[in-house]
This record gives sequence, C-alpha cells and structure tokens, in this order.
Amino acid sequence: MKHVSVIGSGTMGNGIAHVFALYGYSVKLIDIHESALQKGVANIDKNLSRQVDKGTIDAARKASALANISLTTSISEGCRNADLVVEAASEQIDIKLNIFKEIDGCVPPHAILASNTSSISITRIASVTKRADKVIGMHFMNPVPLMKLVEVIRGYKTSDEVTSTVIELSRRLDKTPVEVNDYPGFISNRILMPMINEAICSLHEGVAGVAEIDEVMKLGMAHPMGPLELADFIGLDVCLSILRVLHDGFGNPKYAPCPLLVNMVTAGHNGIKSGVGFYRYTPGSKEKKGVGIKN
Ligand code: NAD
Repeated sequence: MKHVSVIGSGTMGNGIAHVFALYGYSVKLIDIHESALQKGVANIDKNLSRQVDKGTIDAARKASALANISLTTSISEGCRNADLVVEAASEQIDIKLNIFKEIDGCVPPHAILASNTSSISITRIASVTKRADKVIGMHFMNPVPLMKLVEVIRGYKTSDEVTSTVIELSRRLDKTPVEVNDYPGFISNRILMPMINEAICSLHEGVAGVAEIDEVMKLGMAHPMGPLELADFIGLDVCLSILRVLHDGFGNPKYAPCPLLVNMVTAGHNGIKSGVGFYRYTPGSKEKKGVGIKN
C-alpha cells in the first residue's frame, strides 16, 4: 500500500493526511473547496512544526512529510491511483453516499474504501458501491496526530482480509486499532454523545453554567476536557449529526438532541471552528471565555 487519498480537508482530513504523509505514504488530499485545501495544508505545516519543536521528529522528516502531500479539488483525479481512500468529508449521509458512488467508479479494483464517519452506517455506505467487502470504517480521533485510537468498524459485508489489512495499517501509523461492529455510533460515540447531550441539557435547564459543568467532569471524573469544551472541539454540527444518527438508528427518545444544541447549530455557533460555541475563542490564542447561553 503506497497511495492514499484523503477526501475532506477539514478538522479530521488534514490530520489524517498529516499522519499518512509522516509515515511515508504518498497522499492526495481532496476537498471541494480550494480554500479548505489551503487551510488544511497550513495546519499540517503548523502541526509538523510543533512536532519538530518538541523533538519528536526532525526538520528533514517534516520536509519529506510535506513533500508527500499533493492537493486537488477533483475526486476522480485524486483517487485514480489510490490503494486506500479515507473519506473524511462532512458528517451527512447524502454527501458520503455520493462520494462513495463516485470513488467506487474511479479507483483501481483492489482499492480499500474507508470512511472516518463518527456514526453513519458503514453497511449503508458500502451498499452504494460494488465492493462492499472492501468498505470499512477507519475512525481516527481528534487531534489525529496525537490520539492513539483507531476504531475499526466492520460493515456487514466487510471481509476478514480487508479488516486485517486496515488493522495492520493502523499499527504501521503507530496507532492502536480496536475492532467493533457496525451499529449506530459504534462504541465511541454511542457512549460519548449521550454524555455530551446530557451536559447540554443540564446547561439548558439551568442546573449549572458552562464552566461549572466542565469543572465537575474534569475534577470529579478525571476527564482531561469537560463535555462542553469537548463538544466545541469536535464541532457542534458534528455532535448534532451523530445524535440524529443515534436517535434515528435506535428509535429511542433518550438520544433526542437537546433543543439548545439544535439552536446553536442553526445559529452557526459550531464551536472552535466557527470561533464560538459554549466558549468564545480568540484566533491565535489559547484563551477561551464561556459565553452566555440563550435558553
Ligand atoms: P469539517 O467540517 O471540519 O470538514 C469537512 C470537510 O469536508 C470540509 O472541508 C468540506 O469542504 C469537505 N467536503 C464536504 N463535501 C465534500 C465533498 N463532496 N467532497 C470533498 N470534500 C467535501 O468536518 P470534520 O470534523 O473534519 O469531520 C469529517 C468527518 O470526520 C465526519 O464524518 C466526522 O463525523 C468525522 N469525525 C470528526 C471528528 C471531530 O472531532 N471533528 C472526530 C472523528 C471523526
């Protein structure tokens, strides 16, 4: 496996491209927006520099990682030689189904098609391709260069061979793969998102403020980030999409997204990437301030 195409150059896509390029793979980074590609590659450059500053890689390794990455806005051009495609486009089923239909028609027959989806059914995504045995979930965690876990999700028809290849590949990237089956939210988000939603409901009902909720979970449960801070980090739009998948997939009202989350996403308050969520973020600074929430 040499050629990896990464579709989507947002929060996750640029991190995934970073890691593959650092480990010597030739990476095509693809996005519909040229501006997202430029932002993505600037982010990779910045994050590689941090690794150089920390002494985890040297300047030559940074340069070769950057040289391994090329950019395109065309899926067909970007996937033509792919041995593996990792799709990390927006968490919307129609977008993903259209992408998988398109890539199935332009990659070589041996290519494995992976999705970094947080919650959408791998079996459903595979059903729009003619290679359901070669479609798999490769769920990296945010921030990709730092987080060890890759949740490897087997769709209903994913073959043993493809699963073993992706597990082995994850290890080569110095990650720890964990295999799970394909049910809504898999393991990570089936457990994480109801907790985040409950934190938002507690805020909505006035049980406590933003900083207080996060402080209780950090100090009381030894979580490195509070649930509201984490939701901002993940993206509130992404959290909402995942909760909707859980709600639809299980048909259980316990997964219904909090109306405050729905309002915030509708208003464009999507967390760090939009500059405001449960906290307000100053560009280029680590400082963040809790914002007043309109109930
Ligand atoms: P994002 O909004 O930051 O980036 C998505 C990118 O996809 C955007 O740059 C957009 O222009 C691009 N895009 C949209 N449609 C496209 C298309 N048809 N072709 C090519 N590019 C397209 O989203 P993200 O947070 O990086 O999430 C990407 C995926 O990763 C989602 O499936 C999400 O559920 C999953 N994920 C997110 C996190 C997280 O913490 N944000 C963690 C794990 C997994």
